[in-house]
Amino acid sequence: MAKRKSKRKPVSSKKPTQPLDIQFNCPFCNHEKSCEVKMDRTRNSGRIWCRICLEEFQATINYLSEPIDVYSEWIDACESANQ
Ligand SMILES: [Zn+2]
Repeated sequence: MAKRKSKRKPVSSKKPTQPLDIQFNCPFCNHEKSCEVKMDRTRNSGRIWCRICLEEFQATINYLSEPIDVYSEWIDACESANQ
């Protein structure tokens, strides 16, 4: 995993665009903000994965969906799997 540390530029966000990546706490390893969501709106699919334990989940999204929706679907799926 040769990940380059990207330099953080102080980006002044003029456009009100939604950030594509949003980070959430992992329900599996309980790390904070270790899960990233990618919204692939052209394919109507949202993918979330944890970069610590590498759990991942894919959800169907629509134009109204937010990354938090993918995350909560994942949580729901985890809970129903644990029952
Ligand atoms: Zn995890």
